[in-house]
Amino acid sequence: MEETKKISLFDNAVKQFDRAAHIMELDRNIREVLIKPKRELTVNFPVCMDDGTVKVFTGYRVQHNVSRGPAKGGIRYHPNVNLDEVRALAFWMTWKSAVVDIPYGGAKGGVTVDPLKLSDSELEKLSRRFFSEIQIIIGEEKDIPAPDVNTDGQIMAWWMDTYSMNIGHTTLGIVTGKPLEIGGSEGRTEATGRGVNICIQEAVKYLRDKGKLNKKDEEITVAIQGFGNVGSYLALTLTEETDYKLVAISDYSGGFYKESGFTAEEIRRLMERTRGRKALLLDVNEEGYKEITNEDVITLDVDVLSPCALENVITEDNADQVKAKMIVEGANGPLTPEADDILLSKNVFIVPDFLANAGGVTVSYFEWVQGLQWNFWELEDIRKALHKKMKNAFCDVAKTVEKYEVDMRTAAYIRAIERVANATKLRGIYP
Ligand code: NAD
Repeated sequence: MEETKKISLFDNAVKQFDRAAHIMELDRNIREVLIKPKRELTVNFPVCMDDGTVKVFTGYRVQHNVSRGPAKGGIRYHPNVNLDEVRALAFWMTWKSAVVDIPYGGAKGGVTVDPLKLSDSELEKLSRRFFSEIQIIIGEEKDIPAPDVNTDGQIMAWWMDTYSMNIGHTTLGIVTGKPLEIGGSEGRTEATGRGVNICIQEAVKYLRDKGKLNKKDEEITVAIQGFGNVGSYLALTLTEETDYKLVAISDYSGGFYKESGFTAEEIRRLMERTRGRKALLLDVNEEGYKEITNEDVITLDVDVLSPCALENVITEDNADQVKAKMIVEGANGPLTPEADDILLSKNVFIVPDFLANAGGVTVSYFEWVQGLQWNFWELEDIRKALHKKMKNAFCDVAKTVEKYEVDMRTAAYIRAIERVANATKLRGIYP
């Protein structure tokens, strides 16, 4: 975890951007506009703790770009949250919305806190007060928050209620990722993991077409790091809907290896038992599982590795040991640019985060549209629409790979930057 603190995530993100900007010969004036966040808000706010003491917490909301639509992005609760990290995550949200072509800009937020150390009532008080503090810049047509690390449907419900109480009427469009009972969307909880799964399947097809993969589905092995919202739903949809063999899963506590592959039934059981942080994976060890460490998961000899936990997990220190032939990034920023270079030189096929994990923001967009209209869609229609968006985005980026002879990450940036740059040029620089 020491590594995480030393690396500036925003500098890394700008390095990735600049690689693409150079290749597409992006106008320098437009580059200036596109890299800088539009607005950054830091709030320090008090919360009355259960023991009667008052604790002051710090939180952030960064709006990176709004030229294609309202700012959009999740809010995380984590002890390592800082402005640099939130800025980088907001930056990636702009490219994520653009690469899947949904009419949003990019934003992100966070509170520096370990939520596992709070009681339920402290968590609720912190959530409501933080949301009131950032209310001066958010709004259903301005900036729409969503879940991220350690924030879930219950917290979305508190945020929506807080905003609605403050302005005097129920406002469904203010956050996405809400529970179904209060304006949530079918298919939102699973959407990010499902989207990563669609990208894995598209990557397999793409590499087969190129003659770079000669394995049947049932011979393809997969390892997933992280068993939260993204990792667990990736594990579930993968085991339910494909014949690939999911051989390793892990979370903060460590992980399990199962040579014959986990079944969907096993994944469902593990999800049930770890839901709501009741237990970590290692607390629910089952017979036949071999315990492995988080480092082992990263360096396993598998076809597909999907890091779905936190950023900077593959760096120049361990990239050389990675044996996977494909990396599909469920988490945001799991690879540093140095790791990217090492892996690309080993011909690893990398599907970048802001394409691979765009399923969440895509169904968030569907939820927002439904909420604005107070008119709700069926699960099957949402899954179909998500599949179409993800597949189109993957194929569009793959075509850009051919056109510019670049890697998938650079190609995804080129497509996303083209869209945001065109919107910026069309709108012009005010005044
Ligand atoms: P989560 O809080 O639900 O789960 C995080 C998981 O990572 C947990 O299983 C945790 O135990 C594990 N983890 C934490 N530190 C770890 C470590 N050092 N080693 C191994 N595992 C570790 O979070 P989430 O919503 O699943 O988000 C995970 C990542 O996906 C983040 O980078 C987030 O920004 C990104 N993401 C999430 C969404 C979404 O819709 N939730 C959408 C896009 C991107």
